[in-house]
Amino acid sequence: MADVNESTTTPTATRCGRCQAALTEREQVTAGDRVFCRTCYDILKLQVRTGVAAMSQDINYPIAAIGAILGGVVGALAWWGLTVLTKIGFGLVAVVIGLLVGHGTLRFAGGKRSLGLQVLAVAVGALSFLVAVYLVNMTFFNEALAQRGEAWRVGFPPPSINVFYRVIAANFGIMKLVFLGIIVYEAWFIPRPIKLAAP
Ligand SMILES: [Zn+2]
Repeated sequence: MADVNESTTTPTATRCGRCQAALTEREQVTAGDRVFCRTCYDILKLQVRTGVAAMSQDINYPIAAIGAILGGVVGALAWWGLTVLTKIGFGLVAVVIGLLVGHGTLRFAGGKRSLGLQVLAVAVGALSFLVAVYLVNMTFFNEALAQRGEAWRVGFPPPSINVFYRVIAANFGIMKLVFLGIIVYEAWFIPRPIKLAAP
């Protein structure tokens, strides 16, 4: 009567999530909720780094600039139209300029991201906002001029940088500064490069 006791504990071996090799405790590298062998972990890490680096390489800046400018034009026209129609400076709509410029940049850059795209979007976003402010003021100034029977009008494009500045500066208060800040923030944030968390 041989009592064979075969109930030895069979530990479920931890396997590498990539090559399926059985791993001892010391060989395991945990990444997120998965476990890999050291070699596979290094390969995956390199692949992720290469992918992230490629995201900021070979960017077609002229095409990205077209996307940014398109977004800026649409946003500026939308704000101008709405403000002239409603006679209220719907500041919140100005924020749309930042979204359109940021996403226009990102989309036309083929989803690529870089510091250069951030700078591009910020420059186009800020300029679009200033042009929109100019257009709104121009419209209200010209209405006032017409009511007073004056013959001259503020034109677009502005005849000089000086005129551009003076028309914008006529009523540039703290709220416009806030809107400009939000637009710059959005334009900066949307095409930002993805950063890998430090190990
Ligand atoms: Zn492996």
